[in-house]
Amino acid sequence: MRAKPRPPPLFPPKHPTLRPKCLHLLHTYASSPPPPASSSSSSLQRLINLSIRFSGTHSLPQTQHGIDTDTCNAVIRSHTNSGSHLRSLLVFTTMLQASIPPDHLTFPALLKSVARLFVPDLGLSIHGCVVKTGSDSDVFVNTALVSMYCSFGRVGDASHVFAEMPERNSVSWNAMITGYVHNRRFREAHELFSRMLGSGLELSEVTVVTALSACSHLGAFSQGIWIHKYIESQGLRLNVFVGTALIDMYMKCGVMDEASKVFQAMRVRNVFSWNALMAGYAMNGEGEAALEAFDEMVMEKVKPDGVTFLALLCACCHQGLIDKGRKLFVGMEEEFGLRPRIEHYGCMVDLLGRAGLLEEAHELIVTMPVKADGAVWRALLAACRIRGDLRLGELAIRKLLDIEPGNGENYILLANLLARHRRWTDVGKVRQMMRRKGVKKHPGCSSIEVDNRVHEFVVTDGVQREEEILAMLAAMKRELKLAGYAADTEMASYDLEEEEKEMAMMHHSEKLALAFGLVRAQHGSTLRIVKNLRMCVDCHTFFKLVSEVYQRKIVVRDNHRFHHFGGGVCSCKDYW
Ligand SMILES: [Zn+2]
Ligand SMILES: [Zn+2]
Repeated sequence: MRAKPRPPPLFPPKHPTLRPKCLHLLHTYASSPPPPASSSSSSLQRLINLSIRFSGTHSLPQTQHGIDTDTCNAVIRSHTNSGSHLRSLLVFTTMLQASIPPDHLTFPALLKSVARLFVPDLGLSIHGCVVKTGSDSDVFVNTALVSMYCSFGRVGDASHVFAEMPERNSVSWNAMITGYVHNRRFREAHELFSRMLGSGLELSEVTVVTALSACSHLGAFSQGIWIHKYIESQGLRLNVFVGTALIDMYMKCGVMDEASKVFQAMRVRNVFSWNALMAGYAMNGEGEAALEAFDEMVMEKVKPDGVTFLALLCACCHQGLIDKGRKLFVGMEEEFGLRPRIEHYGCMVDLLGRAGLLEEAHELIVTMPVKADGAVWRALLAACRIRGDLRLGELAIRKLLDIEPGNGENYILLANLLARHRRWTDVGKVRQMMRRKGVKKHPGCSSIEVDNRVHEFVVTDGVQREEEILAMLAAMKRELKLAGYAADTEMASYDLEEEEKEMAMMHHSEKLALAFGLVRAQHGSTLRIVKNLRMCVDCHTFFKLVSEVYQRKIVVRDNHRFHHFGGGVCSCKDYW
């Protein structure tokens, strides 16, 4: 299993020093009539004078003859723009104490500061102030509210504000689409983007990049192509951000030559563009192409980063290029001064393990300078499962259950390992343990784009499927049996009767999506399926045969890599 790089947190942690006083004041303000003016007015004067002195600019209004809302707004904006978010808030709360009423120009900057400081409760109270001052019809204030709620992960609240907005501009649409994408709600992002297109607003480069990212995750290929055409027809710049987003989209839809064309057409490329290209090649099983791109990148004097080496090690891993992988792993520190992080170790364990060098992989885990996390042990366990090494596998699972007792994937890997050794009683014990601890396995979920719409299929036993899909599945099974298919139930972790196992296997989400695609998609078109979990052995065999019997090209992106099926074989050469 490939250890995925963990993205940095999107938002900074909560600010601990802010809460009680500001909150109390804001709650009071939002829910009661304003307090009488007091000595706060002079403290505000001092605060603002100080602000002006520290801000080092002369663009702030002079305040010698009294302060008003405009003055405070200007000071808040200046603090927010210079990243002094706490000061922004301080001016605002003091402004309230001095009974200077905020207006619609106060809130956009203030809400931005609250979002940056990550204090959701405070954000809610300020929303109360927005309503109280009647600023809730202002497009800029509402857009700032949408962004703020999204940054707190409160997407429901954000979409509520968005839906109620009396007026929206392209920045508001963009804020909501970006919010969905950042909160990994790609389907909603995609739908909203389609609505935005319908509203006739022009798309900015920022919106295009955000929408492409949603398409990449969903595998919404035709929408992605549409955006590319839009970029060209509207003469939007193919800058480094747009170009990199396009490369990523094409790669994640498994269309490598288009990704490469975009890359060649980009006049300016940075390390992110190269990384998108190399990671794309690696995921699509074109390890050699990734390695060649790296040589070019070094020749063009672009400095690689940690992500570059993750892509390269992943390329080696998928291709089984052990010596090359070892060389790169050593070279990243010796030649480029990049210390391997835990993700790189995870990749190396994966590389060695899959090649059958299980002892060496284990040795690397015990000797590495950082403490192995779940992903590293899982890489070893997955290799033990493929290679059938029960001893090391059990060792890995003990570590895993210790580190991540709530992760259902670990139990499934163990059950599969035991099933492979036909230890059915132990498989039963694992399943009991899962029930006792309330651990659930993520349900498999696959999506396929047909007629510009993304259709999703979830594996749920016993759910009534549409007649046409069931009929297609049955027909496929009949035809494939003639071509020599026998359901590979060995890896099914269910302790079921043979026939039941076969039934459960037939309803794996990617098989449902495939049947749907064969019925509904245009005849002869390539079927593109995205799956949230790793493809199982049986589905892999099944897809290979379908590509031969039905003469269809099928591209599957699972959570680890791509499989390009055609003519009865897969691009991964059965090594995944
Ligand atoms: Zn399957
Ligand atoms: Zn494959």
